[in-house]
Amino acid sequence: MRLTRCAVLSLCSLVGFVSGAAAQQPPTRGIVNVTGQLYRAQNNNHYTVFLVTPDGIIMSDPINRDFARWLKGEMASRFKVPVRYVLYTHRDWDHASGGVVFADSAEFVGHRNMLTALAPPAGNPPLTSDAMKMDANRNGLVERAEAAGAIADRFALFDYNRDEVVSGAEIARGSVSDVLPPTTTFIDQHTVTLGGKRVTMIYLGTAHADDSSVLHFPDERAVFSADILQVRRLPGGLAPSVGAWIDALTTINALDFEHALTGHALAGTKKDAADLLRYLEDISKGVAAGIGAGRSLAEIQKTLMLEAYKGFERWDTTREAHIAAVYATLKGARAGASAGTR
Ligand SMILES: [Zn+2]
Repeated sequence: MRLTRCAVLSLCSLVGFVSGAAAQQPPTRGIVNVTGQLYRAQNNNHYTVFLVTPDGIIMSDPINRDFARWLKGEMASRFKVPVRYVLYTHRDWDHASGGVVFADSAEFVGHRNMLTALAPPAGNPPLTSDAMKMDANRNGLVERAEAAGAIADRFALFDYNRDEVVSGAEIARGSVSDVLPPTTTFIDQHTVTLGGKRVTMIYLGTAHADDSSVLHFPDERAVFSADILQVRRLPGGLAPSVGAWIDALTTINALDFEHALTGHALAGTKKDAADLLRYLEDISKGVAAGIGAGRSLAEIQKTLMLEAYKGFERWDTTREAHIAAVYATLKGARAGASAGTR
């Protein structure tokens, strides 16, 4: 009897332990040296970089609070100097959250458009179509109990005024409540110097987000860009236009560098950055040629295989969506031109 109860108890605690462990897999984290005193740090599928100088550390995205705490501890024990600069690649929550961990020692730098993106929710936009489906009581808001998907997962990060209800304006702003706004902003480019080292941030225009910058480490001949620069991997989307993406990759490729460091997946070399630009140009030309030949979107999707990029991550899942996006942009530009609106 005693044995049975004991067995049941230990089984219960084992089940509790196993399900707890499954729910909270320890994150994959690590720090690798790129060159000199430049390092790339990993948190699961996200990466940031940092440069160690005798006077402190210049780092990029903090990623999130938990990772930032871990990184801060690693930096303190390995390098024994504080973080003096946090240089944001852009405002997205999954890269820019958690900077508060470094607020005791660091200056935060980002493109000026970050301030607009992080400003308090404004206006009264309607719920997105996904959020509308959650709004069971049809009051135009998503209560915590109604929330599903990303809004449920990151409810507190959406809920700017902490009233336990998420509005259309809060959804439009995004789950950025843990992104510390930059204290220093710039428009075209900005260079920070520390301990004899330099890092220049260069604005990339409107590709992916309208506040993206590439970080250039001239002495290390390295660049870092999250979500725009990809190595043997297609971008998630081509918003707002393939032209904006070509502009951004042209800006990156004009820099002098050897190490192409990314916010996700593989890091690579200048050749990889050039390959991504060539992909964007090839898809742009291919879709334009298809439209010129009077082909439908479906026909172009069937024939424009972009085989040279077949080995790239996401080629199989995003090629057709990219073609559709470029098609819509080119058709829209054409309709706009014939209507005389530019
Ligand atoms: Zn992003």
